[in-house]
Amino acid sequence: MTTLLYTHPSFLQHDTGLGHPESAERLRAIDKALSLPEFAGLVRREAPRGSIEQIRLIHTQGHIDRVLKAVPRIGHAYLDADTVISPDSGGAALHAAGAACAAVDAVFAGDAGNAFCAVRPPGHHAEPDAAMGFCLFNNVAIAAEHARSWHGGKRVAIVDFDVHHGNGTQAAFMREPEVLYASTHQYPWYPGTGAASETGVGNIFNAPLPAGSGSDEFRAAMTGKLIPAVDAFKPALILISAGFDAHRDDPLAALNLVEEDYAWVTRELLELAARHAGGRLVSVLEGGYDLRALAASVSAHIRELMRP
Ligand SMILES: [Zn+2]
Repeated sequence: MTTLLYTHPSFLQHDTGLGHPESAERLRAIDKALSLPEFAGLVRREAPRGSIEQIRLIHTQGHIDRVLKAVPRIGHAYLDADTVISPDSGGAALHAAGAACAAVDAVFAGDAGNAFCAVRPPGHHAEPDAAMGFCLFNNVAIAAEHARSWHGGKRVAIVDFDVHHGNGTQAAFMREPEVLYASTHQYPWYPGTGAASETGVGNIFNAPLPAGSGSDEFRAAMTGKLIPAVDAFKPALILISAGFDAHRDDPLAALNLVEEDYAWVTRELLELAARHAGGRLVSVLEGGYDLRALAASVSAHIRELMRP
C-alpha cells in the first residue's frame, strides 16, 4: 500500500514572528528530510483548502469568525500570548484542516493505506470555541468528525503522542462515545489538563508521564493502557496527533524519547489499524521544536508508514 504525504505552500506563509518556536523552519526541515531518495515512494499531494462546513464539524461559528477576523492585513496579531497570526494564517489554517480531511477521504477510498499530513498551524489545543497554544482549528478532531459524517459514522480512535495534552481534542469528544481519545503527555505541564481521572464517557484514556520519563515509561503507558483501549474499541480509522516534542532534545518539555520510540509506536498503531480498520491510518503533525530531532523523528515515523 502507498503512503500519501499532504502539504501546502501556505503552511510556510503562516508567520509567527521572530524567535517563535512554531516556525516555518519546522516544515522546511521536514521537507528537506523527506527529499532523500528513501522517501521517493511517497505519493505527494497538495492539500485542498478546508471548507467552513468542515471547520464547523468541531468549532462554533463564533470561533471561526473571531479567528478569521483577527487575521491582520500586515504584521502580527495575537489570539493568546503564544498564538500569533499573520496575513496568511487564515489560509494556512484552512488548508491544514483540509489536508487532514482529504487524507481521510483518500484512505477510505482505498487510494492509499495511510497518510501523513505535514501541516501547520497545529491543532490539538484548539477547543471548539477557542484558539490556544499555537493552534487555530483542531485539524485531527475535524478529520475525525469528517470521517464519521462522510464515511459511515464509524468509530474513530485518535492517538496523541505529542508531549502536551490535547485539551482541545478531549473537549471536543468528552461526551462522544463513538470517538476514542488516547494520549501520552508530560504531566503536570502545559496546558494543565490530561489527568488519568479525566475519562469522558469512558472514551478518554490519559496516560500522564512525569517530567524525565523516557522510552520505558512511554512504552509501558502505550502497551499497558492506550493500545489495549484502542484494540478493545475496534475503530474503523486511526488518527494520530503526531507531535514529536517528547523527544529528549526538544526545548519545550522534559520527556526523553528518541527516534526509535516513534518508529516503535508507529508499528504498534499500524498493527492495530490492520487488525480493525483495514489498515486506514492518518497521521497529522502537531508539535516538535528541535529542528534536527523533528526531522529525524518524522523520518522514523514515515519510514514505518511506508514499510510494505
Ligand atoms: Zn506539543
